[in-house]
Amino acid sequence: MEATVLESMRTTLRGPVLGPQDSDYERARAIYNAMIGTCPAAIVRCADAADVAEAIGMIRDIGAEPAVRGGGHSGAGLCLVEGGVTIDLSPMRWVRVDPEARTAEVGGGSLLGDLDHATHGFGLATPTGINSTTGVGGLTLGGGHGHLTRKYGLTVDNLIAADVVLADGSLVTASETRDPDLFWALRGGGGNFGVVTSFTYRLHPVDTVGVGITAWPIDAVPEVLRWYREFLPQAPEDLSGFFAVLTVPPGPPFPEELHGKKMCAVVWCYTGDPNGLEDAIASVNDAGRPAFQFTAPMPYPMLQSMFDELLPPGLQWYWRGDFFDRIGDDAIDLHLKHGSELPTPLSTMHLYPIDGAVHRMGADDTAWSYRDALWSAVYVGIDPDPANAALIRQWCVDYWETLHPHSMGGSYVNFIGADEREDRVRATYGDHYDELARIKAEYDPGNFFQANQNIRPAAH
Ligand code: FAD
Repeated sequence: MEATVLESMRTTLRGPVLGPQDSDYERARAIYNAMIGTCPAAIVRCADAADVAEAIGMIRDIGAEPAVRGGGHSGAGLCLVEGGVTIDLSPMRWVRVDPEARTAEVGGGSLLGDLDHATHGFGLATPTGINSTTGVGGLTLGGGHGHLTRKYGLTVDNLIAADVVLADGSLVTASETRDPDLFWALRGGGGNFGVVTSFTYRLHPVDTVGVGITAWPIDAVPEVLRWYREFLPQAPEDLSGFFAVLTVPPGPPFPEELHGKKMCAVVWCYTGDPNGLEDAIASVNDAGRPAFQFTAPMPYPMLQSMFDELLPPGLQWYWRGDFFDRIGDDAIDLHLKHGSELPTPLSTMHLYPIDGAVHRMGADDTAWSYRDALWSAVYVGIDPDPANAALIRQWCVDYWETLHPHSMGGSYVNFIGADEREDRVRATYGDHYDELARIKAEYDPGNFFQANQNIRPAAH
């Protein structure tokens, strides 16, 4: 990119503009997944919606490809385009809580931890994901599921409005009553429709919660999954627990003799009496005696940041996913096989429950498809060493390929792998794809925003 273009961006925009010659560029280019080495020609750190609108105009004028960065957590590195311009929303980290209305307005570059911190002060929260360092932007636009999902739904089920700068540089506020088609598409359709500069969420009374983990040896996968598949869907919605295959990390609360052991586990969150978790999960023994169980009441943001230290930025990541409406005995055998073959200590597989409140919304109420799924599965290869990139990818692909025939066909859009193709985006949206393509044609007919799990504008 010519120096004069960078200079003119710097003159026009309030936030800093970084090119490869700038000392801060390498730090600004680095994203959570160190497997991604993409180098944009410029990173435009937007201070506000006006900067975003100006940046869009300038990117258009020079014919560059835009990308949008929220928290930079996309496994596929969708917030960067080689030689393109990244609209980086990281200066837009702010939260305004209205405790009486039980709503929060949140800047488009905020992280989950920003939101949880601000709402917790008022004993409130909204469902998001399980790591505080993830961006609200990409997570919300994809749907968003986490510990509070059985009780209060997906993140998008709690979205009330969004300020969006569109591909033509105009700013709209989308809600049930204003630009309702756009609002429908934003709730699951990813970053296809514009740059969201602020999200408004509904909040719920959530303060101290019961937190726990129950772990069994890896060869207990069949007994544990047979128990889990019956127990959790019948359990009160105050209880959530995601199933995992994992290697026990070397630190508290785990006893030393379990460090480094491959195990299966359920990670619990209980929004009933914070001291009542142990009673709520008393039937864990039906799955066989756990090797370890820990339960404690915790402030909700502490649960949300529990895995942050284990998973700092800069690791190699590869993931794939699928939705499931049942966990059959044949699938259980495969979980045992692949779970026993975890390739590195941080690699894992999670089954996130997405029933309860998610099922109370109508199938066509939002762009998110698969409201009839019970679990959103993710197979995740993680390791600090780039030399293990191929190893962790292959384990995920093998796991996904053998389990996929037992799935519902599509996956959560935010769990589509970096090298998966358009057919997976179509599978994700199923019957909703054509409507999304129609709305894309209305709001972004030239497919300006295509650094995402792309929905092509329908032909007129
Ligand atoms: P980015 O890489 O910044 O953006 C991802 C995509 O969203 C890009 O296409 C980008 O253009 C678009 N985008 C981001 N912000 C905006 C915006 N404001 N306006 C328009 N487009 C935007 N997901 C869950 O649902 N639940 C979980 O519990 C969960 N846990 C996770 C844990 C970890 C450690 C990681 C790495 C990911 C997890 N995810 C989870 C997946 C997560 O939802 C996605 O990676 C998501 O894309 C991250 O959003 P981001 O803003 O950080 O990403």
